[in-house]
Amino acid sequence: MKQFGYRSMQKQQNAKNGNGMEEKMKQKNETGKKKGKTKKNDFFFVCKHIRFSWGLIILALVIGSVQSIVTSMVPDATANLFDGDFSTGKLLGVAQTLAISLVLGLVSYVFRVFAESKSVLAARTSVWERMINAKMEYYDANDPASRLSMVTVDAQTFGAGLVQLFVYIPTMVVLLLSCVVQLLGYSSKLLMILWLLVPMHLIYIFFVGRWQQRLGKDLAWQIGDLTGYLAERIRNLPMIKSFAAEEKEDKNGVEAAGKLFQVYKRYNVYLQAVIHSYQSLTAMISTVVSVLWGAYLLKTGQTDITSFLAFSMYVASINATFLVISIVWGFVKDFQGRANRLARLIEAPAETTGKMDSGKVDIPDGDICAEKVEFRYQENDKPVLKDISFVIPRGKVTAIVGPSGSGKTTLIKLLERLYSPTGGRITIGDVDIEETNIESWRRKLSYVVQDAGVFSGTLRQAFCYSVEREVSEEELIRVAEKIDLYDYIRTLPDGFDTLLANWGSSLSGGQRQRIAIARAMLRSSDILIFDEPTSALDPETANAICRIIFEEFQGKTVIIISHELHYVAQADKIVVVNQGRMEGSGSHDELMQACRVYHDLVQEQSYKEVFSV
Ligand code: ADP
Repeated sequence: MKQFGYRSMQKQQNAKNGNGMEEKMKQKNETGKKKGKTKKNDFFFVCKHIRFSWGLIILALVIGSVQSIVTSMVPDATANLFDGDFSTGKLLGVAQTLAISLVLGLVSYVFRVFAESKSVLAARTSVWERMINAKMEYYDANDPASRLSMVTVDAQTFGAGLVQLFVYIPTMVVLLLSCVVQLLGYSSKLLMILWLLVPMHLIYIFFVGRWQQRLGKDLAWQIGDLTGYLAERIRNLPMIKSFAAEEKEDKNGVEAAGKLFQVYKRYNVYLQAVIHSYQSLTAMISTVVSVLWGAYLLKTGQTDITSFLAFSMYVASINATFLVISIVWGFVKDFQGRANRLARLIEAPAETTGKMDSGKVDIPDGDICAEKVEFRYQENDKPVLKDISFVIPRGKVTAIVGPSGSGKTTLIKLLERLYSPTGGRITIGDVDIEETNIESWRRKLSYVVQDAGVFSGTLRQAFCYSVEREVSEEELIRVAEKIDLYDYIRTLPDGFDTLLANWGSSLSGGQRQRIAIARAMLRSSDILIFDEPTSALDPETANAICRIIFEEFQGKTVIIISHELHYVAQADKIVVVNQGRMEGSGSHDELMQACRVYHDLVQEQSYKEVFSV
């Protein structure tokens, strides 16, 4: 079965062939246990780091508490009618108490729900903000797709649960205490019923609440993993079809849904069955015992009929309040489980951006120099780059070549400051790029990847993505002409306002690549990075794209990673890396003479092209 979650995926890679299913299931369970570890203070940690509207929450709490106090007076007012005094004043008094209780009930409900919605909003926006700003290390260690459910389900449950904990439960406790105080006014003997009610409900809250918390946490991880799995598969449906893997994926999906069902079964069937039985049992016991106790006190003359009536109403009210508290407590326990996932995201290292970033904003133009750069992805990993030094001349085209896995893309990631070198440094002019303001630095760069992404939306939005200025129609047409796409756009009924299908799937790979290049043109960045810009394209389109890159960005610093050495040969400078080390740099002719690795790469490619192997 397909394993869900990044950690599962890592283990999956280690599990070689064979009947991986059972082994992977075992791994999944281990992984589930590991990732399910909840720190005791996760909840407070999350509360501290999310900007909740505490003012609104406190207001909802105050209104709710006042309503509880007024509500607790209703049984007393009603019982007092039992003495047969139906004077207008007394009737009006009862009506007034009921009316105030009703109005306050409505107001407190509105405030509570409003506070809940605002808290969910705060949780969701904070989670999204954190996710966007997290460092690459966090993305490496967690499956990004599974985090969908953090923004949707977890943020919702946490925001709502917080208001339940800080508003609903305290107002219920105030109601409970007010009822007790009211009962004290009648007879302290009647109050002895609490010796039965309180332990019964506390047992429930303690044991069932804990169970609910554990299951809630399992459920959150399980839904997260399933969401991640489905998001990945749905995104790659064409690939599944082209590999005729529908049957296998269908089976995987069914198994995944079945796994979630197992957790749901424990949560919705077993847990809920226990909750309902326990609640019915406590309601029955407390009713019977309170009637017997009240009747006994009445019979022995230790209380009167008015007190007995008030007592019966208060016991019903106390019981109902306890039940509400225990149900809400269950939700609170559930949302504490979610705090675990949110805390892991919040504590993840974030990029220093915005006002916090004191880096250099005025970044000089100049050559880009790598000086003895070393890099490893994880602290204990082997270095992926070792002792790399080269110069990328300003305003020229530099190609980085080398066999697959040699570290070319990693170098680009360091240049983009997605990661920081673990040794050495990269400078522009005389400034270490790590000392620059990250936003200013990234604005200086435009990065065009292999099979560039296009979000759903209009063609205009796709062209202007991340271009932070108004782009006129004329400029758009000029750029579209330069990338040989305007003739196609003119044929579309809505031109630049044509809506693109999912993720730009209605465009060909070449068209998407051209749009990515157009974006780079519109951004007017000083440094352009092309990572295998032609590898997924047919030779004719690849030629056209290469021509655009070499012609349209003259005077800019252009860095190209490419396997296609006949394009690379045109570059002003070529840097050769192999197994994370520098092999040489220079022009094509120089490297053919002096660099064995480059020479071999060219020979191998020429052979492949001639013999089509
Ligand atoms: P190239 O672009 O030359 O094909 P890469 O820079 O993508 O090479 O990869 C260089 C090495 O770094 C490879 O061994 C690859 O497995 C490893 N690597 C790449 N990305 C990561 C990552 N996020 N975590 C750990 N190792 C990685």
